Amino acid sequence: MSALWHGFADMGAVERDGAFVIARGEGAYVYDQSGARYLDATAGLWFANVGHGRAEIADAVAAQLREIAHYSNFGDLAEAPTRELAERLATIAPVPGSKIFFTSGGSDAIDTAAKLARRYWHQVGRPEKTIVVGRERAYHGMHVAGTALAGLPLNREGYGELMPDARTVAWDDAKALLALIEEVGAEHIAAFFCEPIIGAGGVYLPPEGYLNEVRRICHDAGILFVTDEVVTGFGRIGGSWFASSRFDLRPDIMTTAKGLTSGYLPMGAVFVAPELAEPFFGGGVWWRHGYTYGGHAASAVAALVNLDIIERENLLAEAARLERTLHEKLAPLAAHPRVAEVRSGLGAVAAVQLADPAEAPAFVKELRAQGVSSRAAGQGAMQVSPPFVMTDAQVDELAAAFTRALG
Ligand code: PLP
Repeated sequence: MSALWHGFADMGAVERDGAFVIARGEGAYVYDQSGARYLDATAGLWFANVGHGRAEIADAVAAQLREIAHYSNFGDLAEAPTRELAERLATIAPVPGSKIFFTSGGSDAIDTAAKLARRYWHQVGRPEKTIVVGRERAYHGMHVAGTALAGLPLNREGYGELMPDARTVAWDDAKALLALIEEVGAEHIAAFFCEPIIGAGGVYLPPEGYLNEVRRICHDAGILFVTDEVVTGFGRIGGSWFASSRFDLRPDIMTTAKGLTSGYLPMGAVFVAPELAEPFFGGGVWWRHGYTYGGHAASAVAALVNLDIIERENLLAEAARLERTLHEKLAPLAAHPRVAEVRSGLGAVAAVQLADPAEAPAFVKELRAQGVSSRAAGQGAMQVSPPFVMTDAQVDELAAAFTRALG
């Protein structure tokens, strides 16, 4: 028995079977309390892009904590590492001249984006543009706006109406967005939210041309285009910092978190295109929004060192290598009768879709017994989104463990 209430858990089962307690990590491995070693198939919850146990980040954060942990970024207050990080992010932003609004994590980033989209239209004299559109299977975090926007009905159950003017369209068909525009009118739609790769909803890759098509539709209709790159950002897409850069999507707003610090400390960042920020920067306008820990100085230091490591070790290229390796080495698993399909081929992400999603909880334990820590996304999609430092030999090890666990 433990006092800890886990997220996304059947707590009765956790109390019955016990918790899987991770004590340590190094590179692409994590270790439990008994010292047993597991390949980290998921980079924690999609965040440990540079791998675990980086003393360099720990030391830099400790030095910052000794100076001051955090003060504030409200009003005219700011902190040096936070300012430096914003400048650095602006240089890699998919839209040049972007402004950076810091949050405590991904859900805050989504809430910030949803509020900013509506507030922007209000600011420019179009307050009737309030509808925010998401997609089926999408996951946008667990705050009220993100839960309402996302396309996972189970996550919305039991709360009543979470947020007015949230609509959902098919995840893979740009015509569904056109149909919604036809139905409600572009003059009522504030923004369209889009994960370049559906992550927590089960790892679904966008159909060829889909992202550019919805981008064009939004642009033509005067609807803000928001990319949720909480998962795909900071290299996970492979070869580029962001999917928005790889596909030249020029988002009006881009949300990020996770890989920003590789999870060493919590932090999110919302990238805002200059045209959208402009009405708030002219003087005399307040945006009454912000989080106590937005731009936390120690988190900013973790992010800066994380970016240094990604650049120094060419980890964007390593993620591109993993895109190819995961595709090649996991493909044979699709032949197993317990596997429905393997989804891979874009970014350092893949899913081994179990034929029977009900088997997922047991399969997670079978995988652990074979030395791999993974989890089920969506409906029985075993997540493979490793740290970028996972070698091809370790991917072989991972695939072999899957084969043994499948039996
Ligand atoms: N958006 C996406 C695409 C995510 O995958 C997640 C988390 O998994 C979030 C938003 C929410 O981020 P957080 O859990 O840091 O609040």
